[in-house]
Amino acid sequence: MGKKSSGVIRWAVLGIILGGSMLIHYLHLVGGVRYPSVHSICPYGGIENLWAWLAGRANIQKIFSGTMVLFFLTIVFALIFRRSFCGNICPFGALQELLGLISPKKVKIPEVVDKHLRKVKYIILILSVFMAWITLSLWLSPFDPWAAFAHIYKGEEMIEEYLIGTIVLVATVIASLFISRAFCKYLCPAGALYAVIGKLSPYKVTRDPKKCIKCGVCTQKCPMDIEVHSCERVTTAECISCNRCVEVCPGAGSMIYTKLARFNFKPLASVIVSVTVFFGSIFLLDAAGLYTVSLPTEAEIVEKAEYLGISDLRGSMTIEQGAFYTGKELGDFYKIMEIPTNVPKDTLLKYVNQYVPGYDFHLMKAKKGSD
Ligand code: SF4
Ligand code: SF4
Repeated sequence: MGKKSSGVIRWAVLGIILGGSMLIHYLHLVGGVRYPSVHSICPYGGIENLWAWLAGRANIQKIFSGTMVLFFLTIVFALIFRRSFCGNICPFGALQELLGLISPKKVKIPEVVDKHLRKVKYIILILSVFMAWITLSLWLSPFDPWAAFAHIYKGEEMIEEYLIGTIVLVATVIASLFISRAFCKYLCPAGALYAVIGKLSPYKVTRDPKKCIKCGVCTQKCPMDIEVHSCERVTTAECISCNRCVEVCPGAGSMIYTKLARFNFKPLASVIVSVTVFFGSIFLLDAAGLYTVSLPTEAEIVEKAEYLGISDLRGSMTIEQGAFYTGKELGDFYKIMEIPTNVPKDTLLKYVNQYVPGYDFHLMKAKKGSD
């Protein structure tokens, strides 16, 4: 298979991951808690939950044990494959690249501005982790454009819960038409985390200066605007290991290649190996029962008669589902959660406040969960 096919396969993989993510988000919104929420399958939630997890507390809201497993997996993955998660797996990165394809014209950001803007993502990383750890919440969530995108099927919820995230999303969509991977370059704290960890990885694009004909195509096509043709090894934390530079090189495989320790990877092998290792690990972890990112189905609850505690309730459950999942009579559940009985039973727990001003489901859950 040639260089062209590696690009096609990478696009196919990114397309499937983006489409698959959108399907999961849709199922969660219409089918409820038995499907994973955007937060439970976002590895960044893992670092926000890390402090609570290390202290042996219950996971913070919307996070499952499987989210932590996913977080540690991406850390190990970054240690081996650098920022391959960004280049070959992240659906938000895929969305930005897709938008870049229909881009009318790229804008060149002045070097000095670009250099300083790229530091913003590290500030967001430090600030968001600090705030999440002291507030014991997914502090960044309301600002998250991917969480906003995941609610695109329910416009009202998207605006109400993720107004700032929606604004960042719209800005990212517009920026992506003119600046490749704008969010990844400047704002993404997860990318910043993998950039720091990836510095330890032996996986690097390597150029043979003796064979290189200095055509500069690698630099032109790099979505992260790295000057590939002037370095022998791409060591910058900005490289997302997408292999685009290797793909477009007229002598790929001899002038430029991706190296992992003693092994040289062709672009196609890079995509296949990294994506297989990532999803293969999830498959194995799931088979071992370690990758739980959603609640059991109602049938599983009935079969095992293992009911949830109040602290396991989710805001995306209806009152009726809350009673079912905790094994309570509906009337008792209303009483325990201090919900007036005139609130319809099909109301989502997070929306009880629309009937009872001031009602805070999460505070009530914390109070009753610790009783
Ligand atoms: S930088 Fe962030 S948004 Fe971009 S690909 Fe990486 S994790 Fe995804
Ligand atoms: S240097 Fe190559 S692998 Fe790294 S981001 Fe640029 S094109 Fe992708």
